[in-house]
Amino acid sequence: MTYGKLTDQELDFIRRIVGPERMSLGESVLDLHGKDESFHPKRRPDLVIWPLDPEEISYILKMANEIRIPVTPWGAGTSIEGNPNPVEGGIVLDLQQMNHILQLRTEDLQVRVEAGVIYKELNQYLSRYGLFFPPDPGAAATIGGMVGNNASGIRTVKYGSTKDFVLNMIVVLPSGEIIRTGTNAVKSSSGYDLCRLFIGSEGTLGVVTEITLRLVGLPAEFMATVVQFHTVREATNTVSQIMRSGLSPAALELLDIPTIQVVNQFKKLSLKEKPTLFIEFQGTSVSGLKEELEVVKEICKDNGSLQFDSGIGREERNRLWEARYDVRESIKVANPGFTALVIDTAVPISKYPDMVEWGQKKVAEKELKGYAFGHAGSGNLHMEILGILEEEGQWQKVLEAGEGIVKFALECGGTATGEHGVGIGKKKFMKREHGESLKLMKQIKDLLDPNGIMNPGKIFE
Ligand SMILES: Cc1cc2nc3c(=O)[nH]c(=O)nc-3n(C[C@H](O)[C@H](O)[C@H](O)COP(=O)(O)OP(=O)(O)OC[C@H]3O[C@@H](n4cnc5c(N)ncnc54)[C@H](O)[C@@H]3O)c2cc1C
Repeated sequence: MTYGKLTDQELDFIRRIVGPERMSLGESVLDLHGKDESFHPKRRPDLVIWPLDPEEISYILKMANEIRIPVTPWGAGTSIEGNPNPVEGGIVLDLQQMNHILQLRTEDLQVRVEAGVIYKELNQYLSRYGLFFPPDPGAAATIGGMVGNNASGIRTVKYGSTKDFVLNMIVVLPSGEIIRTGTNAVKSSSGYDLCRLFIGSEGTLGVVTEITLRLVGLPAEFMATVVQFHTVREATNTVSQIMRSGLSPAALELLDIPTIQVVNQFKKLSLKEKPTLFIEFQGTSVSGLKEELEVVKEICKDNGSLQFDSGIGREERNRLWEARYDVRESIKVANPGFTALVIDTAVPISKYPDMVEWGQKKVAEKELKGYAFGHAGSGNLHMEILGILEEEGQWQKVLEAGEGIVKFALECGGTATGEHGVGIGKKKFMKREHGESLKLMKQIKDLLDPNGIMNPGKIFE
């Protein structure tokens, strides 16, 4: 597809809409909007704009659509598959200044926010009212970016992912038309579910400007535990059994030995260097939580657990979760000069033990360095496979190992991406994962965005 170029005429038009202070052609600004947190190559946009409302976005999209200028929405740029990289240049719409919490309706457990609100800040605000928005990707992501990627995180095993919390949204289509999808009702069977169409569409169908989210009450009590095993297989079998036992952990995370080693170093912890599960339960009474933990303890024992540490206080528990959130940083700091290919496969829970074992085998076969961790309770494996990008032979091995792992997940009935989105990195698996229905996805894209201006080069090869 050939795209148009921004001329002085269009720049004047945009200046009249947003004013000179909310647009930039400055090198450093363009640089900052050229790539996310992944290894995928940087490509500077031609212009960055900070809109303030749907109407401004509508004018800009209408103009861009007429002369075929690529437009890529940008939240906080924390993606790890190249999702917001403006690979064809053009305009980046940075939603950062649309960061207002518009309306909290405590009586309905709902909040209406602009797309640029950072979810951590939203949760800080909500905590005053005893409420929270559970999907939790760890990085300082925006709600719009979480909708874009259908993000989730350590709490998803109990509460669900972003898509489970969106009730309605305002979306600006590539034509400039502004629509509302969904209602304030928590259930509906009224026609096609357009909210869910835009969620996970990675900015390829339109720009989300406002979102109404369903909330949940902050749990009164929690109990966390650290369990260690001789082998990863014992740990992953335990995960699968906990999930089948009818228990509902609020977090169930796996960390293999290399991951524990780097986390110990980076966070100055002294966890035994063994395959480890971090588990947390949340609820209304201590006695209820104790009962749940007793069941978990039995399952762990049956699977040969070495250590079951359940007397964790609030401070220690917070330190552990902080360490979990910092896994990526810990790997980075321990391996200067290396680049990570990030695996994000998710499989049905019964296949999780095989998935992890297969991943470790692929990395060992290629004699590479790899770290296995992830949201085990949701069947989600993150492996970071390390290599030196400039050493072609080695990076090729990294890609081959990654490909082998994703293919195995798909054979298990799983997905190439549990939460990071397709972006650039997972495009090559889309046909294999979706078969004929990929064609329908493309038809939907062509219907909504016939000129292909919205975040081109993503999802489809
Ligand atoms: C250390 C680290 C840990 C992470 N852990 C997790 C994790 O546990 N779980 C998880 O899910 N993710 C995780 N991520 C990935 C990332 O944080 C999430 O995908 C997050 O949702 C991205 O949000 P963002 O605001 O940075 O969006 P961006 O990266 O800016 O954009 C994401 C995508 O959405 C589109 N987009 C952004 N805003 C809008 C909008 N308003 N309308 C339409 N499209 C839009 C963009 O074009 C892009 O395609 C992690 C990232 C890092 C760096």
